[in-house]
Amino acid sequence: MRKLFVPAVLFAFFLVQFQTLNAQDYFQQEVNYKIDVRLDDSLHLLNAFEEIEYVNNSPDQLSFLYFHIWPNAYENNETALAEQKFEFGRKIKLFRIEGQRGYIDSLDFKANGETVKWEYDPVHIDICKIFLNKPLAPGGSIMISTPFRVKIPKGNISRLGHIDQAYAMTQWYPKPAVYDKYGWHQMPYLNMGEFYSEFGSFDVSISLPKNYVVGATGNLQNEDELNWLNEKAKETAAIRDFDLEDADFPESDKEFKTLRYTESNIHDFAWFADKRFHVLKEEVELPHSGRRVTTWAMFPNKNADLWKNANEYINDALYYYSLWYGDYPYDNCTAIHAPLSAGGGMEYPTITVIGNNKTAMGLEMVIMHEVGHNWFYGMIGTDEREHPWLDEGINSFSDRRYMMTKYPDNHLYKMAFVNGSLAKLLGIETLQYNYYPYFMYLANARHNLDQPLNLATGQYSNFNYGAMVYSKSSVTFAYMHKYLGDEKFNEIMQDYFEQWKFKHPYPDDLQKIFESHLDEDLSWFFDDLLKTTKKLDYKISKYKDGQILIKNRREISSPVLLSGLSNDSVLFTTAYPGFTGKKWLPVKDVESVDAFRLDQGLDSPELYTGNNWIRTKGMFKKTRPFDLNLIGLLEDPYHTNINLLPAFGYNYYDKFMIGGLLYNSLLPLPALEYQLMPMYSFGTKSLAG
Ligand SMILES: [Zn+2]
Repeated sequence: MRKLFVPAVLFAFFLVQFQTLNAQDYFQQEVNYKIDVRLDDSLHLLNAFEEIEYVNNSPDQLSFLYFHIWPNAYENNETALAEQKFEFGRKIKLFRIEGQRGYIDSLDFKANGETVKWEYDPVHIDICKIFLNKPLAPGGSIMISTPFRVKIPKGNISRLGHIDQAYAMTQWYPKPAVYDKYGWHQMPYLNMGEFYSEFGSFDVSISLPKNYVVGATGNLQNEDELNWLNEKAKETAAIRDFDLEDADFPESDKEFKTLRYTESNIHDFAWFADKRFHVLKEEVELPHSGRRVTTWAMFPNKNADLWKNANEYINDALYYYSLWYGDYPYDNCTAIHAPLSAGGGMEYPTITVIGNNKTAMGLEMVIMHEVGHNWFYGMIGTDEREHPWLDEGINSFSDRRYMMTKYPDNHLYKMAFVNGSLAKLLGIETLQYNYYPYFMYLANARHNLDQPLNLATGQYSNFNYGAMVYSKSSVTFAYMHKYLGDEKFNEIMQDYFEQWKFKHPYPDDLQKIFESHLDEDLSWFFDDLLKTTKKLDYKISKYKDGQILIKNRREISSPVLLSGLSNDSVLFTTAYPGFTGKKWLPVKDVESVDAFRLDQGLDSPELYTGNNWIRTKGMFKKTRPFDLNLIGLLEDPYHTNINLLPAFGYNYYDKFMIGGLLYNSLLPLPALEYQLMPMYSFGTKSLAG
């Protein structure tokens, strides 16, 4: 190693140069698709032809392109998808059953009309490499074309599939992997672990029997089909009682129709077809531009009683996300109820697919979450496989924000129970939505089984994928939101959206946006909470003469959120800069306050809330109101209680989870205080703990 002597001024000069270079460094490829596809609904096949304009905006000469051919994930029991399913307890038969299998074949890639050499990835048959006859220069573009045929797998496997003649066509066509400043991002399809794709435009023509109702990404170009859907929407709106039991498929029309959909500034295209779909159509006015977006809900009889209000959920999600982050730029937004076996729902640009739900609140939750992904995944196109918190985490925080804004009263139990008496019996009827992500984080954090948020999807345990990526992120962003307040937080997030919509930001890019708006040390957030499993626990030690003694019991010195209460209602909340050790903090309004509480809104990942409370008068100042709740479900942060029975959990990956939870918060040993038994998931029939 040689030592280099660089004078400070020169060094500063280089640094400035380097930073400017870095900013100009950004590039992204452009991919414009034209696809013609025909559905054969007796053999469950797609016959298609695809033509892609690939624009190389990188500074590099490309001699090959990686393509995803993801229908091959369903080809045999050795694919990454199959192996992940086995790992999570799926029976070994899987793709040995012919009816379950799916694949893509008949590929014949050409570049600018000339046949090219291509090969399957040696490990993953759902990835292939196309060798260009002549390297593609920086700034150049090339036309890639291929016919393809897809054998549609059974819809109970993952997200591409059919259940009889109900079709969910997702990740169904050959698609270039992302090439960015870190190189190629080719990846096999997985159930747990999502997507990363290039932006561009889509022009897709779908041919299928005339009596299919189709929901797809983008804007329908056929006037007569639009009129037909409008008629359907009128009919559906007039139905008082849906025949929930009738699941029969009408016979397919002999005559075919060809529907054309177009959209730009998107990175994927999904479509869903079902002859039984009811259709509902509404409009929502966006808060900033006043522009109107058409919203569609499409669903068969099953769940129709819940789906009759689906447009309200789509509209409200579009409204709130637009308000907080920036207006939705597309003209249509659709939610579909379709066969799906990979969680409660899945997002695609301008369209989302939703599985079965038991309650209206559960359905609203999933629809708004998936519609919200149009911002965090759709427009802000991060690498979900590598940095899942950037989309799922921020989106889950937005769920929490939506629920707490739209339903400020207590509604958590409505996610799981149709009727309130069971919730009352279990002692959870007063809990608000914010309890849910908080509890999910604590479940593993209390045992030091938590994981940091900056891991790739494959590094998480099944439980932690929900508990960390979704729930800890949700609480962590709620913390920043509470600390900054609505106005500042929105300003920063809107700037992030403006600068990075239709692009591929990395975690550093989000951090830079926050740092450009806030002149303070944010390491508690971007380092401690996002990149480590360090814990947070402030404790109220004493109250005396208008001052309160707070002790930091753990490793993170993040802002202290202290509320003054009177008769359980919050008079004010003050944020103090974080510190280590002990500190006396001055408090205001002591006359009217009868108690102080840290983190009143469960807005931070505080490990213990039992030490967050003090009364200003009386004996036993630190004992919370006593609530003996023998069959209470969950730890109630506002009361001291004894709880004996099961907990319920919910996440998008595993649907409902019922777990045995046995703990007694009066026992002195932390290790005994909280014991979570493995959770059992209805969704995958596997242990999720
Ligand atoms: Zn999600």
